[in-house]
Amino acid sequence: MKKIGFIGLGNMGMPMSENLLDSGYDVYGFDVNHEAETRFEKAGGQVGRSMDDLAKSCDAIITSLPSVEAYESVYLGEDGLIRNSHKNILLLDTSTVAPESNKKVAETAEKYEVRFLETPVSGGVVGAVNRTLTFMAGGPKPIFDEASALMHVLGEDIFHIDERIESGTLSKLINNLFIGFYTAGVSEALALAKKQNMDLDALFDVLSVSYGQSRIYERNYKTFIANDEYDPGFTLKLLRKDLNFVKETMTREDLHLPVTDVLLQVYEEAEQAGLGPKDMAVLYEHVGKQDIS
Ligand code: NAD
Repeated sequence: MKKIGFIGLGNMGMPMSENLLDSGYDVYGFDVNHEAETRFEKAGGQVGRSMDDLAKSCDAIITSLPSVEAYESVYLGEDGLIRNSHKNILLLDTSTVAPESNKKVAETAEKYEVRFLETPVSGGVVGAVNRTLTFMAGGPKPIFDEASALMHVLGEDIFHIDERIESGTLSKLINNLFIGFYTAGVSEALALAKKQNMDLDALFDVLSVSYGQSRIYERNYKTFIANDEYDPGFTLKLLRKDLNFVKETMTREDLHLPVTDVLLQVYEEAEQAGLGPKDMAVLYEHVGKQDIS
């Protein structure tokens, strides 16, 4: 497997595709944003080929896309991957998408006899840069086994959740529900500490060895809040998107999770306040402004 297409050269896709280049693969990038393609070309990648051309000529194509609309158009569109792929290709999607949408793509791929695997990732941009991503794959084990070498180029912990389509996506959504809770918890706890004029650095040292410690506290505080700098990272709007998928899943299963409902509302409000394009850690700034007076 030598020729790899990479579709979606954003915060995650760019470092992943650069790592493939560094590992000696021929990588063909595609993005609707031409600035992203230019950056990839400068990094040594090849650009300028259409999606259907990539589908006809690559050994594998990896996607990292920001929305259900983008995901469905890339996989299901007339000039998209499934309709145009040759029979030996491997299609891997690392985006976080709605389970229903993922199922639709997987079933269409099966119908067209194209090998597709959902392989959502966790670990953020740092994980994408450092090749320490966690992969949560769901779908046929033989396809997982074949895709495994490629995932090992990009990540550290590679899991096959089970044969069920959706199992990778559901694992990822549950991960992001935790992230939503932790980020809200860090934001509100630190807003309270700040209001009480506490030294947040000193507090971090204490809580790092207490049960208040979490990877999200460390990430959100050390990288973003302490530096008053919220360039993503993982945007608040992407996390809100994933919480919407959680909500859709809850509704489908007729499950009422009251705190999750409030959580989604908090992120929606922060997005409406214009914070969507910033890193999710910016929720701290948003809740800090919620004075009653
Ligand atoms: P991003 O918005 O930075 O990048 C997405 C890229 O896809 C952009 O460059 C955009 O121009 C491109 N794109 C949009 N529509 C397209 C289309 N139709 N065809 C080709 N390219 C298209 O998003 P990101 O942070 O890189 O996240 C990508 C996916 O990975 C999302 O589903 C996200 O939920 C998931 N994810 C992100 C992180 C993170 O920390 N950022 C971590 C794990 C998973």
